[in-house]
Amino acid sequence: MSTSIPYGRQSIDESDIAAVTRVLHSDWLTQGPAIPAFEAALAARCEAKYAVAVSNATSALHIACTAAGLGPGDLLWTTPNTFVASANCARYCGADVDFVDIDRNTWCLDANALERKLVEAERSGRLPKVVIPVAFAGRSADMHAIKRLADRFDFLVIEDASHAVGARYCGRPVGCGDHAHMTVFSFHPVKIVTTGEGGAVLTNDATLHERLRSLRSHGITRDVSRMESESDGPWYYEMTELGYNYRMTDLQAALGLSQLDRLDTFLSRRRALAARYAVLLEGLPLVLPEYDVLDESAWHLYVVRLKLDAIRFTHRDVFERMRQAGIGVNLHYIPVHLQPYYRRLGFRPGQFPESEQYYREAISLPMYAALSDDAQARVADTLKAALR
Ligand SMILES: *Cc1c(COP(=O)(O)O)cnc(C)c1O
Repeated sequence: MSTSIPYGRQSIDESDIAAVTRVLHSDWLTQGPAIPAFEAALAARCEAKYAVAVSNATSALHIACTAAGLGPGDLLWTTPNTFVASANCARYCGADVDFVDIDRNTWCLDANALERKLVEAERSGRLPKVVIPVAFAGRSADMHAIKRLADRFDFLVIEDASHAVGARYCGRPVGCGDHAHMTVFSFHPVKIVTTGEGGAVLTNDATLHERLRSLRSHGITRDVSRMESESDGPWYYEMTELGYNYRMTDLQAALGLSQLDRLDTFLSRRRALAARYAVLLEGLPLVLPEYDVLDESAWHLYVVRLKLDAIRFTHRDVFERMRQAGIGVNLHYIPVHLQPYYRRLGFRPGQFPESEQYYREAISLPMYAALSDDAQARVADTLKAALR
């Protein structure tokens, strides 16, 4: 029996371990110098003015929504084809959620469906305050069109780029802020680079940046210029709003810095694997990811869709046959509106048909920087056999 292959995993080398060990020997395990160093490196890499490192992408989405002013009575729209956190952040703020279906080819939020829904919402007086497009599998949605709609209908764009650290969109780095007011990254171990748990919000807006920093750490400031009263003395700080403890530790930031040094290696390996999958899987009854973004996507996921009319098996059969053969396939994503929590808020099957059809056909194949050529060939051979 050959060993099993996961769908994703981290890549940690001796340089990463040395970076974390150096922090353990230092004076600061948290709130030390590794945090601003990581933030500066991330912002520089993405050509953004500011980056705020936090405990995970879920907390990043929460404070991004809070900084955007989202609150009770407001509306946030996102795509059903995402992890639940992209919608939950609205609920943390007491706001309502609605969804926009995905594009049939990119599997990202459909900008045309967004425009139609916005025109209707304007008529009924229920426009969203925030829209969260997701850079699904590592490629951005049609951000040009979404940004134009943001200017016309006056909403904020928070790009959930949890899958897309290091990706580019139309030649520009994801996170640079050309098409989003804020961009969120995740550094969970299955993502492109990891800090164990971790996330970040990038922005070019100084006011948003200050607000994000405050919300990350209890709403507390030690900056005299931002205080409402006279300082009582050198110990004095003020809590000026209700914030959280969403800080990243220095151990994590040091790991993140070391991983950023390796980002280009990770990306080129993922792109090579994506290009090779396209060759290995050619001619099978599958819809493969669009190839034109090969060099722009970060290839967090490699998702194929089964052509169910052309095979004898069900989607579930193929999935189970792969798992039984030790191939750690997965499914990204169960449409968020079909989760029991969201059904209780009134969502029902049939509302977002493209996402639901996608869910009936999609399988995520193993994709990570340390996946070997041999292991990838085994994935392709197993899939070929499972479809026969
Ligand atoms: C992983 C992920 C998140 C949440 O990231 P955490 O860092 O685990 O909180 C949010 N959105 C998307 C699209 C993700 O893939």
